[in-house]
Amino acid sequence: MKILVINSGSSSIKFQLLQMEDESVLASGLVERIGEEEGFLKCTFMPGTADEKVAKIAEPIADHNKGMLLAVNLLSDAQYGVLAGKDDIGVIGHRVVHGGEDFHQPTVITDEIMAAIEKNILLAPLHNPANMDGIRVAQELFPGVPQVAVFDTAFHQTIPAHAYHYALPYELYEKQRIRRYGFHGTSHKYVAGECAVLMGKPLNELNIISIHLGNGCSMAAIKNGESVDTSMGLTPLEGLVMGTRSGDIDPAVHAFLACNCNMDIKAIDSMLNKDSGLKGLCGLNDMRDIHAAIDEGNERAKLALDVQTYRNKKYIGAYMAALGRVDAIIFTAGIGENDNIVRARTIEGLEGFGIEMDLKANEQRSKKATLLSSAASRVQIWCIPTNEELAIAREAQELVKA
Ligand code: AMP
Repeated sequence: MKILVINSGSSSIKFQLLQMEDESVLASGLVERIGEEEGFLKCTFMPGTADEKVAKIAEPIADHNKGMLLAVNLLSDAQYGVLAGKDDIGVIGHRVVHGGEDFHQPTVITDEIMAAIEKNILLAPLHNPANMDGIRVAQELFPGVPQVAVFDTAFHQTIPAHAYHYALPYELYEKQRIRRYGFHGTSHKYVAGECAVLMGKPLNELNIISIHLGNGCSMAAIKNGESVDTSMGLTPLEGLVMGTRSGDIDPAVHAFLACNCNMDIKAIDSMLNKDSGLKGLCGLNDMRDIHAAIDEGNERAKLALDVQTYRNKKYIGAYMAALGRVDAIIFTAGIGENDNIVRARTIEGLEGFGIEMDLKANEQRSKKATLLSSAASRVQIWCIPTNEELAIAREAQELVKA
């Protein structure tokens, strides 16, 4: 069965076509700058194989409909040989950011499901409308093909009330559904599943701390295979220090800025999401640039690395307390998979808790899952590449088969 996975953003559509029999990627592409003067589409066919081919289109792409149509025409183009026609697709899997409290697992999309996703726009005003655009366009282009929504928040719906409630007036939860939801659920669930296979144990017998460090960063405490706590909250702003997002701060900073710095709530929100985190501390948000700056003696870049890795360590401590016993710690995503310095700095000092890194293994670069802990470490430490597209495709396939 071939599955098309769509991740639709406000001005972009990421797509991947997978052959599920061997889980190979037939095509992987990105439509960018939708609605701008010059749009762009790049698609790589059979990526990473001897038959790899790249197609590029540069032209105005007025809306998601046009973008998706260009993508589908490319995928169906006989010269690339990946798709015989629209009927060749068995299922379409969509990433949907916020499922609120309505969705605990992936769901086949119906009109009622669309209404529920729409209801949750209040919780994700930037993401859910863009995700819905992608769904509507796919429904139009592929009538009759089942469409499945996979929610970023769903994996965390097992978090107990004592961990998801903020200590705010209770009516805010009752009336506005203000609570911690958590994100990156598809990624945390996928790497935890891979980790169980690598450890040769059932996932439901493992306690895992999963650390997703990319542009966005979050940590999840996973008990017997289920999420019991996570660092992101009502929105993906809470928790760890990220590329441009602050993570945890004293909520009184808002009032201070409003009273003393003449900033309105929009400006504060924008600053916390776009100009804070690593970028706020040192002006750079890509960890590769931060290391280069540190090598040149940039003290603020060093501070940014210190603040991020200290926050990571603090959260590991918190989740050790939440879990009681930890079997494995996983690093994943752009920084987690590639940055041995961030990993080593995050783990150093935890030896007294039975968490010890093999520094040589940590320095080796690999695109495959790698064990990073020493033989003496009570807790296994893993670097496991995340694959959200494959995770969405697997979930979608499982659902339509069932
Ligand atoms: P993601 O959101 O998972 O795609 O991660 C993107 C981030 O990963 C980038 O902004 C970089 O900070 C980081 N990153 C990617 N490659 C490397 C690398 N080789 N070394 C360190 N950080 C990296």
